[in-house]
Amino acid sequence: PAKPIYAGQLPLGLSRISNIIAVSSCKGGVGKSTVAVNLAYTLAGMGARVGIFDADVYGPSLPTMVNPESRILEMNPEKKTIIPTEYMGVKLVSFGFAGQGRAIMRGPMVSGVINQLLTTTEWGELDYLVIDMPPGTGDIQLTLCQVAPLTAAVIVTTPQKLAFIDVAKGVRMFSKLKVPCVAVVENMCHFDADGKRYYPFGKGSGSEVVKQFGIPHLFDLPIRPTLSASGDSGTPEVVSDPLSDVARTFQDLGVCV
Ligand code: ADP
Repeated sequence: PAKPIYAGQLPLGLSRISNIIAVSSCKGGVGKSTVAVNLAYTLAGMGARVGIFDADVYGPSLPTMVNPESRILEMNPEKKTIIPTEYMGVKLVSFGFAGQGRAIMRGPMVSGVINQLLTTTEWGELDYLVIDMPPGTGDIQLTLCQVAPLTAAVIVTTPQKLAFIDVAKGVRMFSKLKVPCVAVVENMCHFDADGKRYYPFGKGSGSEVVKQFGIPHLFDLPIRPTLSASGDSGTPEVVSDPLSDVARTFQDLGVCV
């Protein structure tokens, strides 16, 4: 891979951020945004200063998952910088707050827009910036990883065997960039009904990944109607139900990033 462009010239907007965490998945729809948002609000709940950068230009979920008062990003006309919007103390930037609809853009344009949004934002002093990565491991993801000095990556997947190959791709991309994958989150692992536990996508694929690639942590998230309902309502589950087992899982994840 190309030499990271942040080497020696860290974008100014990112210079006062202690940890940049990429939440990544190789396919869409596995719960990456759900994990990114709940992780961010868990860290904020632990007292950290947190921002979320929704880098999913084609399908930004942040505007649905949180409900800030101002839904349009403001510009600082003198400095030509972007002022993030905010919800419950977490700073937010998403293409979905840029005042345009879903984008029709080619790859290089997308990379440009993402880089501009990320690096010209006045993030200020943050303990954590959580990046909700676009799904996949292509050029857009690679450029993003090279612009932002990532401290750690969290990979979100579902338990199917099929997902294993994709996860491996993600782990390899981060390891090429020398970014440690600190955790795999296996989402939609199981659900409970009639006093029984069901595993609709099977079991074991996540532990195989963890073993094969030496990733230190594996977390399971259940299929939970409240998780999707809270995602749609604009208040993350860890905020609306901070004592749930799901919230505890996010606290454990928060400790290891
Ligand atoms: P991605 O970012 O990978 O595309 P999302 O986080 O947007 O995925 O999740 C896709 C949909 O699935 C959303 O409607 C979300 O609320 C729902 N969802 C994600 N994880 C769960 C879960 N564990 N239980 C129930 N619904 C979930």
